[in-house]
Amino acid sequence: MSRYLSDRFSSLDAYVPGEQPSEMKYIKLNTNESPFPPPETIASVAHAGAGKLNLYPNPDGVRLINRLAEFYEVKPENVIIGNGSDELLAFAFLAFFDAGVVFPDITYGFYPVYAELYDISYKEIPVLDDLMINVEDYCSVDSNIVIANPNAPTGILLGLDEIEKIAQSNPDHIIVIDEAYVDFGGKSAIPLTNKYDNLLIIHTYSKSRSMAGARLGFAVSSEPVIEDMNKMKYSFNPYNVNSLTQLMGVAALDEEAYYSEKRREIISNREYTAKKLKELGFSITDSCANFLFGKHPGIGGFELYSKLKDKGILVRQWNKPRISDYLRITIGTKEQMDALISAVKEILDKGENR
Ligand code: PMP
Repeated sequence: MSRYLSDRFSSLDAYVPGEQPSEMKYIKLNTNESPFPPPETIASVAHAGAGKLNLYPNPDGVRLINRLAEFYEVKPENVIIGNGSDELLAFAFLAFFDAGVVFPDITYGFYPVYAELYDISYKEIPVLDDLMINVEDYCSVDSNIVIANPNAPTGILLGLDEIEKIAQSNPDHIIVIDEAYVDFGGKSAIPLTNKYDNLLIIHTYSKSRSMAGARLGFAVSSEPVIEDMNKMKYSFNPYNVNSLTQLMGVAALDEEAYYSEKRREIISNREYTAKKLKELGFSITDSCANFLFGKHPGIGGFELYSKLKDKGILVRQWNKPRISDYLRITIGTKEQMDALISAVKEILDKGENR
């Protein structure tokens, strides 16, 4: 820390992203990326668009927003795009949460960081012993709320009826539903935005559309809420989504056949891996995301993480209360999952022979 940093940031703990090693010597199952590259058309539109990089991008993202509105059956006025969904979460915290916000104690680690960055008071509501969110804890709480659905890192999904109950019972507050992983087995709450003007749904292209490197997210809500989000964007960085990413974002929406096939493959690899890990003695949450969250009674979380890393497999582990014995394992290709399963087996077998 330099002596020039503003005092109010001196105790800020920044978000720590998962490791992104520069050489690809690892099987990378640690940051919930897709193991599949985007379809060919994505590269070709990017190549064609590169000739116009001398110009600023369209700040309103008109073509992409129109196409997203058509795809999700809402009006363009209901949509905003962002530099990854992280940026849209940042805009939402900035725009709406001065009076405070609540979220689960076990959830996406960026929420408390944004709250601290903007000096927003927040309350963490404990998830149940089985790591499920108790919906009643969020009904009529008279507070803004952020919920990842499916939750991260547990992968556990709430139903749309439960999301509706939360939105309905807190009509004077913004309810952010972070749907980063919803395409892997959940149903989006986007259609509910027609009924509840306080619901703000945030999505990303990073997971189910294989475009984490392009940094693209979008949010859907009532028109006035999107207007407020745009106020933040235009007060921060009007050109937040670069022109190549905007082109790629449009092209990706024409590739549903490719993406749904890949999602099916990821879901099937998830079920396969969960079954194999359970056979090895793991307890695993019921994940509807592109990752699994589980622990083994015979080995600590950090030990297993470290031993897997020694064997060339990167997964994610947090030194946090309640979940330090768990690993979050991103679902990769079948071959990658087989490599993970045999590495885990080897580690457990060795432990027994000690
Ligand atoms: N929300 C959740 C729950 C996530 O896990 C992530 C990925 N780390 C994000 C949002 C952010 O994704 P991105 O900024 O890549 O869109």
